[in-house]
Amino acid sequence: MSWKISHKIADILKKGSDNEGIDRDEALALMQLERHSRETYALMHTSNTLSREQFVEKGENHFHIGINVEACPFNCRFCSLTVKADIFKEKIEFTDDEILKWARLAESGGADALNLMTTGTYSFERLLEIGSVLRKAVSTPLVANTRDINHKEGERLLDVGFVGAYHAVRLGEGKDTPFKPQMRIRTITVLKDVGLQWMNCVEPVGPEHDIEEIVDLMFLARKHRATYSGVMRRINFPGSPMESYGMISELEMAKMVAVSRLVMGDAPRAHCTHEPHSASLFSGANLLFPEVGASPRDGEADTGKGRGKGLGDCKRMQVEMGWDPDLPSNCFKHEGLRNPKIAN
Ligand code: SF4
Repeated sequence: MSWKISHKIADILKKGSDNEGIDRDEALALMQLERHSRETYALMHTSNTLSREQFVEKGENHFHIGINVEACPFNCRFCSLTVKADIFKEKIEFTDDEILKWARLAESGGADALNLMTTGTYSFERLLEIGSVLRKAVSTPLVANTRDINHKEGERLLDVGFVGAYHAVRLGEGKDTPFKPQMRIRTITVLKDVGLQWMNCVEPVGPEHDIEEIVDLMFLARKHRATYSGVMRRINFPGSPMESYGMISELEMAKMVAVSRLVMGDAPRAHCTHEPHSASLFSGANLLFPEVGASPRDGEADTGKGRGKGLGDCKRMQVEMGWDPDLPSNCFKHEGLRNPKIAN
């Protein structure tokens, strides 16, 4: 048995570990590695080392609050919150008190951000109101996860106290969703223009996606310098129209997390994966999303009572894998960053 890895892969990993970022052909070569090969473990080791150096052992937790449950008419095929999925017959809008309770729980538990997610037709005004209430009540940074927005709407998010927005061109955008990728990219440029941080994930990955499509989204994140951009797999909710495709495993996701980490080079302040699991915390990810409220992956109205992992679970997982969730966040502290290697 040979203990060596191929020269070609060793050269790509060397380039990646120098934090230069790797090119598209190199990323595609890494995506094609066999799952249990020596090369794949060397890839995961390289990304793990890079993240531990760059993020200084900080485990990040961005606490997802899905603020409404509603059968969404946009019918994205991977989402449980749709008219077609026919799971949620009644609208639920979590009250200010419920949202405040979750936000205070997140703050006292040491979450690094609150991600407020809405369904596709939720009132933007109402999102601003909730943001404004939370801004006064908790010190945890606010991140919006909502529909496409224009410059004026981006400025209004900023005005009420949001510091960033999660927005993704999803895999299968325009085919499994009714949205044009260009519209999603326009929103990303809006976020950058108005001064909101752009948060991203390559998602929702399933076995049906070819590696070119996956890698192109990794490079989109690098091009626009996302604050973070890891990998999330598609979860098949009961009765999902994607069920026949199956789902990728956590191990496959961990390998892609490692590739995307090398693609991102010195751009990110963290590297995410979802749903929370240990393997990716050993291959370049340091950021997890505890979840409550609505979730497009769940048949429960409050995912905190369903699939969603709690903040305590995520922190324990990070500690087990050698990340410290109690260090200050690298994502939002522009002043006095713990590591000068992290670009502003
Ligand atoms: S992903 Fe968003 S826009 Fe698409 S169906 Fe679900 S809630 Fe609606």
